[in-house]
Amino acid sequence: MSMTDQLVQANQAYAETFDQGDLPAPPARRLAVVTCMDARLHPEKFLGLEIGDAHVIRNAGGRASDDAIRSLIISSHLLGTNEYAVIHHTDCGMLSFTNEDLQQKLADETGVDASNIDFLPFPDLEQSVRDDVNRIKESPFIPGNIRVRGFVYDCRTGTLTEVPAA
Ligand SMILES: [Zn+2]
Repeated sequence: MSMTDQLVQANQAYAETFDQGDLPAPPARRLAVVTCMDARLHPEKFLGLEIGDAHVIRNAGGRASDDAIRSLIISSHLLGTNEYAVIHHTDCGMLSFTNEDLQQKLADETGVDASNIDFLPFPDLEQSVRDDVNRIKESPFIPGNIRVRGFVYDCRTGTLTEVPAA
């Protein structure tokens, strides 16, 4: 059985007892979280979120990329969220390479030029959080009254630490 087959099987068991099909789409706690795709992060658990509570937007690094901002615009303007958290984490893979490294690797392995892709790696964890908080705040499409705070999650201890604005 492939891993995907196992997912399908797990879903069948899930659906048998699923009883939350009547939740509204707007997040109950009016929250959106931007965080990394890292498999060691379980944001719903480490933030105490229940189904229906919040938007959790994940990508490599938890960066406030154009696409993350796109989701936040929809989250705020169409679905009523008004408080955001940006959460990066210790030991993030995004600390371990540069754009040039990955662009070269892709060119070597595929023969296709990747020099126009910014993979948004970062050398400084806390600064990356500040940069992303500011990028969200500075978007003209994110309402100015939305609170945006930044955090680092420690993968070893499960602890969240706020990154003060610079
Ligand atoms: Zn990461």
